[in-house]
Amino acid sequence: MDSGTMTASSVRRPAVTRECYAPIELYAPNRDPAGIDLSDNTNRWGIPPAAARTIREDMVERVTRYPDLYASSLKRALAAYVGVDPSMIVTGCGSDDVLDSAIRAFGEPGDRIAVPDPSFAMVPLFARMNALVPRAIPLTDRYDLSAAAVAGVEARITYICSPNNPTGTPIPRPTIEAVLASSDGVVIVDEAYAEFADDSVVDLTSASARLLVVRTMSKAFGLAGLRVGYAIGNPALVAEVEKSRGPYKVSGIAERAAIAALTEDADWVRAHVALVRTNRDRLSAEFRRRGIDPIPSAANFVLAPVRGAEEIARGMRDRGVAVRPFSQLRAVSPALRATGGSAIRVSIGPWGELEAALDAFDHARIEGREEDVPCV
Ligand SMILES: *Cc1c(COP(=O)(O)O)cnc(C)c1O
Repeated sequence: MDSGTMTASSVRRPAVTRECYAPIELYAPNRDPAGIDLSDNTNRWGIPPAAARTIREDMVERVTRYPDLYASSLKRALAAYVGVDPSMIVTGCGSDDVLDSAIRAFGEPGDRIAVPDPSFAMVPLFARMNALVPRAIPLTDRYDLSAAAVAGVEARITYICSPNNPTGTPIPRPTIEAVLASSDGVVIVDEAYAEFADDSVVDLTSASARLLVVRTMSKAFGLAGLRVGYAIGNPALVAEVEKSRGPYKVSGIAERAAIAALTEDADWVRAHVALVRTNRDRLSAEFRRRGIDPIPSAANFVLAPVRGAEEIARGMRDRGVAVRPFSQLRAVSPALRATGGSAIRVSIGPWGELEAALDAFDHARIEGREEDVPCV
């Protein structure tokens, strides 16, 4: 096409594209740099020491060679960490890649995928990228999931996030068991925040041919930039995800660093998870002191329902602190109904960073109120 005659609409949708891709938008949270970034739930204490050392020492040697086809040594290290056989593990380029591959492996184009709402915003995107149809299942007013509502959708795949992003709330084990019992399809449980929670359903994978538990090294392990995700499930199930994922998805550097972290950095991870739990409670208490009703979290972030979340996040960013605003979450609970689904999600880091966040929050709120005055 002659670029001189290109119209805005032809740029958006040239004739060669797929129909089902038209409604798909790029995932675009505000990623402008901020002094203190509490917007994406990564590890604010940094990278664990053995992983850092491995990257410094191994980097140059690794880059001219292809990595292991299916990351077999990493699978062994993950299996030992999780306590399952290596045949029950599949890895990927971040758990996003594992989720995408699993949807592609188990869903035919046109099939339904049940997705709780509110939950992880990437999943409906991955569903559409694979020509599946996402069906939102509202969480209950206690952030639980109704197994009957899930069964009613007759989905080929059910996605459950526990602890759930962005609410931080765990989906109780009996609910997951009920969903497995009352649906026929594959059940994917996203445990990206498992290390910060009290429970995991990994133990259910050995007894179920349809349960896939997805995990990541991006959050508790502090390796988001390396892109290492994995899933645990019945060997026949993970083999299908591996086919769909394809070879060479974990880079050689990422594989070595992840193995180092899994085998040598367990104490570092445990110590920082403990700090997260303490600071999570402290931050929640500070929000309550301000008359805000934060949602009880089992993850490394807290969702605080506040009116004008976008403006507050902008005001906080002006003071060097990034948090994630949500302006219209489905208002499933009294706390979310009180703000019309407006809330900010704050990642838990060192207490000094959370103090700075609270200070920025207080200023952003006051400024917001002052701006309101002329409109009253
Ligand atoms: C952060 C996150 C992930 C993904 O992470 P990767 O970096 O792709 O491993 C997956 N699921 C949820 C719910 C998350 O919050």
